[in-house]
Amino acid sequence: MKTKQNLLRTLPKVDKLIDSLLEKDFFKNKPYKEVYTAVEESITFFRKGILNDTIINFSETDMENKITQILSKNLEYKFKRVINGTGTILHTNLGRALFSENLLDHLKHSLKGYSNLEFDLETSKRGSRYSHIENLIAKVTGAEAALVVNNNAAAVMLCLNEFSKNTEVVISRGELVEVGGSFRIPDIMELSNAKLIEVGTTNRTHLKDYEKVINENTSMLLKVHTSNYHISGFTTSVSNEELANLSKEYNLISMEDLGSGVLIDFSKYGITKEPTIAESLQSGMDLVTFSGDKLLGGPQCGVIVGKKELINRLKKNQFLRAFRVCKMTICALEFIFKEYIDEKEVVKNNPTLNRILEDSKVTFERAEILKSLLDSINLKTEIIETKAIIGGGSMPNATIKSFGLAIKDIDGTTLDKFFATGDNPIIGRVQNNEFFIDLKTIHSDEYSIIFNKFKKYINCDF
Ligand SMILES: *Cc1c(COP(=O)(O)O)cnc(C)c1O
Repeated sequence: MKTKQNLLRTLPKVDKLIDSLLEKDFFKNKPYKEVYTAVEESITFFRKGILNDTIINFSETDMENKITQILSKNLEYKFKRVINGTGTILHTNLGRALFSENLLDHLKHSLKGYSNLEFDLETSKRGSRYSHIENLIAKVTGAEAALVVNNNAAAVMLCLNEFSKNTEVVISRGELVEVGGSFRIPDIMELSNAKLIEVGTTNRTHLKDYEKVINENTSMLLKVHTSNYHISGFTTSVSNEELANLSKEYNLISMEDLGSGVLIDFSKYGITKEPTIAESLQSGMDLVTFSGDKLLGGPQCGVIVGKKELINRLKKNQFLRAFRVCKMTICALEFIFKEYIDEKEVVKNNPTLNRILEDSKVTFERAEILKSLLDSINLKTEIIETKAIIGGGSMPNATIKSFGLAIKDIDGTTLDKFFATGDNPIIGRVQNNEFFIDLKTIHSDEYSIIFNKFKKYINCDF
């Protein structure tokens, strides 16, 4: 056995090693900078290993394998597709709403070249990026006018800044929500220079609570949909109608942040009722805001619908320039809203709605298929009935009957860790110390990916 010093001396010099590697096909066509980094990192890895006695010998092949491994990892895309086995349909950490094949085709087709993003093809003059979608959104939601910004947080902030800067906005204490860690109503208020006036108590707010605080400095009555939690028991809140009427009486603006943009009545399909955008507008709200990538099932954006004169004012607000959406968003959103013109179409074609409305029998069939695939490589699994959730801060009480596979006889945490890394990460849950994949959020074109990942695990190929 070589001594430590001898072994350290056999570590190659970076430049020399690179020269020899670059003669090989695998390295020849890789960016030189990346090869250089991988070689440096690899030599450092071996030096450290030798010094702390974890490496007592190595060959040229060991070194080359390590470099290949580092290089491949550094060259791969960091943003990648993952398999969602969590059973949470709108998973904010996993990218919320899904894009359908047809939507992806449309994006590719429309974005391949230049576009009429801000060009009016009728007058051959400069146009507005919002013009492509405004009438469509208005038609589908029943609004007078519409505007789209980067996300719902920006939508709320833009409205507050335009209509309530340096004035007072009244909101119920029960609605001071925090969504996904970074959206807090009080913080957004502060950013937009609106002054927050809280009324009522956490569980009960009455119309007279709002009325009592209205003064000459009040500009808006705001309702925030408590989309990610539910207060039950001894509760009272003020209806949209009451709030809208009160604001008309005092010449104020009424606005509702609905969070999730629901356009169809889910109760028709046996799922908990969520207030729809149209209902909120019909109740008399002047402005309604919602996310594009929650229950709407579209791209990340925030949609503002409501009174035309108010939307026109928003279009002139300086923040709109900072919050503006890109051509990908406009293109995708037009596609999504077009599907909503016919409810049957959108229910059939939108992957988010699909998953929510899918019959649990179909989910069970997928669990059976995956189970038989895993049986074939002698993996012990069990189909378990479970409850999928909608997520994305939507419908906190609604669960959907689903089925999943529990992987038996393998430590759940170990599998969970292995599955989250490498190519095609699979994100599942660990329950009762077993790795669990919920089939609600797995699609039939993902079986082979899961199967191959299990095979890799069994063959210790990591
Ligand atoms: C999700 C949500 C938001 C934030 O929307 P983003 O599109 O993520 O910015 C704001 N308000 C409510 C009530 C929400 O549910």
